[in-house]
Amino acid sequence: MANKRMQAYHDVLHRTPKHIELNSKISELFGENVFHSEVMREYLPGDAYKKMKEVASTGKQLDRSIADQVASAMKDWALTKGATHYTHWFQPLTGATAEKHDAFFKPIGPGKAIEQFDGDLLVQQEPDASSFPNGGIRNTFEARGYTAWDPSSPAFVIGKTLCIPTIFISYTGEALDYKMPLLKALHAVDEAAVDVCQYFDKNVKKVVATLGWEQEYFLVDKAYFNSRPDLQMAGRTLFGHASAKGQQLDDHYFGSISERATAFMREFETESIRLGIPVTTRHNEVAPNQFECAPMFEECNLANDHNLLLMDLMEKIARKHDFRVLLHEKPFAGVNGSGKHNNWSLGTDTGVNLLAPGKNPKSNLQFLTFFVNTIKAIHDHSGLLRACIAGAGNDHRLGANEAPPAIISAFIGSQLSALLDKIETDVKAGKMTPEEKTELKLNIGKIPQILLDNTDRNRTSPFAFTGNKFEFRAVGSSANCAGAMIVINTIMANQLKQFKKDVDARIKSGEGKDEAILKQLQILIKESKKIRFEGNGYGEEWVKEAEGRGLANLRDTPRALTVWHDKKVVELFEKVGVLTPRELEARQEIEFELYVYKLQIEARVIGEMAIGSIIPSVIEYQNKLLKNIQGLYDVLGEDMGRKAADAQIDLLKRISNHLNTMKDACDDMLAARKKANKIEDIEEKAVAYCDDVKVYFDEIRYHADKLEGLVEDKTWPFPKFSEMLFTR
Ligand code: ADP
Ligand code: MG
Repeated sequence: MANKRMQAYHDVLHRTPKHIELNSKISELFGENVFHSEVMREYLPGDAYKKMKEVASTGKQLDRSIADQVASAMKDWALTKGATHYTHWFQPLTGATAEKHDAFFKPIGPGKAIEQFDGDLLVQQEPDASSFPNGGIRNTFEARGYTAWDPSSPAFVIGKTLCIPTIFISYTGEALDYKMPLLKALHAVDEAAVDVCQYFDKNVKKVVATLGWEQEYFLVDKAYFNSRPDLQMAGRTLFGHASAKGQQLDDHYFGSISERATAFMREFETESIRLGIPVTTRHNEVAPNQFECAPMFEECNLANDHNLLLMDLMEKIARKHDFRVLLHEKPFAGVNGSGKHNNWSLGTDTGVNLLAPGKNPKSNLQFLTFFVNTIKAIHDHSGLLRACIAGAGNDHRLGANEAPPAIISAFIGSQLSALLDKIETDVKAGKMTPEEKTELKLNIGKIPQILLDNTDRNRTSPFAFTGNKFEFRAVGSSANCAGAMIVINTIMANQLKQFKKDVDARIKSGEGKDEAILKQLQILIKESKKIRFEGNGYGEEWVKEAEGRGLANLRDTPRALTVWHDKKVVELFEKVGVLTPRELEARQEIEFELYVYKLQIEARVIGEMAIGSIIPSVIEYQNKLLKNIQGLYDVLGEDMGRKAADAQIDLLKRISNHLNTMKDACDDMLAARKKANKIEDIEEKAVAYCDDVKVYFDEIRYHADKLEGLVEDKTWPFPKFSEMLFTR
């Protein structure tokens, strides 16, 4: 057999779509593998059920006797689903999810055994998890991390395992995961928003943050994946000449989905539905073999669990269909990258979306209050927003012409811009006359329920208001949404608290409630003006204008991550009660480490692929050319031979040039790596990898990609973009 690539090509041509049983009534499957409240009602005694519901919505402690009852009910239900094991399912800072499986089975005597699962096992566990990143929080001698049950997210069964969503904390109580700070941020924003809602409606007792994510991804055939060490090790291609046909025809966007891809989607969507993930839309994305999947929005913590679950399901099910899913932000240079838009809003227990314009002046003033406070929070903490989406993968996407820029700004549409401008100018400093107040109220009352220009929205903005929610578009496709959601909900909680304080002070000094609110909003509008941008976020002019406005443009991860130790940021997290300074520091260190590891791996793979595979295949072709040239000389004589071998000699020269320069760059990269590896300080090391090592990636790649275009097709060792992106 020729090389691996030829074998892969052959395999792919002979694939057929897997047959998937179609269930016409998908609604009947919804949530069937979830221990949701209806199942609980069935399996739990009335009292325990009531307590459990209360705990799920308030996050209060569950007493031990109830925990035993819940555990026993969970186990009985899981056994009917064929489960044999259980696991605490948690979200370490590596970005993936983790689980450690234990059997229900317990021997109790010779030849005798029972299925056991009690409150202790449900509530807390000590997985042997000492090798998860902890940023120095857990010394190895106390390398214990605990998982603790999160009763606000329901347990579920996957395959033969009961999965229990948990937080992951150190022996000394510090968060080692994403879920614990997320729950704290959600609690903080709930409290702060309820307080502000009291100005408008005393009935509001709870506010939940809502999240609707949109997951983008690529599919490649597993045979191609397995013959590319870069895809296997780094999740993205580190080499590869652009294919002749890319996305220029835009014929993939919303085009028909291939039969093989459809079969895969059908299966993973059905499994998602069974797990209670309300997936509804699927379509092709702009790039070839790129797709998107989005569910209905849900309460933020649950929505995030569902996203992680979905990413996991996608990977498992893709393998069954001989595909591999690529969740990396930029798997193919020159082709659109993948993001995960985070649609975010706040909703009350009275059924009101606080970021949707209302039907009358009062509800519109409430909308404006939450809307303007969001803009102000984004303005005050734009660096933090940038930091929470930073990562080696997302660096290839942000500011790369088809993704939101690395500069954080907010788009709100022309109608709302006009209204904010009006409030800015028309609210008078001193006491306002009744006429002036009426006029303003009229204007606010005029906010239409459907904001016309937001349907035709600006897709180049990293943070856009889309009519009834904000859409944070800069989040990377592989990210845990909690990273972004912790920040947004924390800064919002902080802002709303401040707002309440300021408005209360105004009311105390004699201003009417509406007037106090309006005057405070006016201040926020003025103060946050520079974060609003309605133009083209992809344009070069914006980079200049943003600089003039004093907005940060943090283009790479090491620079963006420095924000985490800003004094303002440390104080914010501590004040809102989301992360302690120690936890923050640990997180920052982990982020720097992850960045360095990722670049280290990429650098190694680049070296191995270039030296171990590309150079030998180029030499093979060089030898072929040499033999041919020599033959022509031998037969035709020196003069005639030279003429006849003109093209071959030219090729040989060009190939040799690229080969030599590529090899030199590989050597230089190795030297730079060795130097960077000696650096002790993790932040400095990350900067060295970014500035001194990564620069060689592009250079090496440039010559390798040229060689790909010069060397005989069949000797090239790796599947080409045209094959990976276009064979179905
Ligand atoms: P696109 O951005 O691809 O055009 P949409 O605008 O239709 O797609 O995206 C809508 C997304 O916003 C969906 O995932 C939906 O669940 C989510 N969404 C809608 N309303 C809310 C809300 N109040 N809170 C959070 N997410 C929401
Ligand atoms: Mg979107």
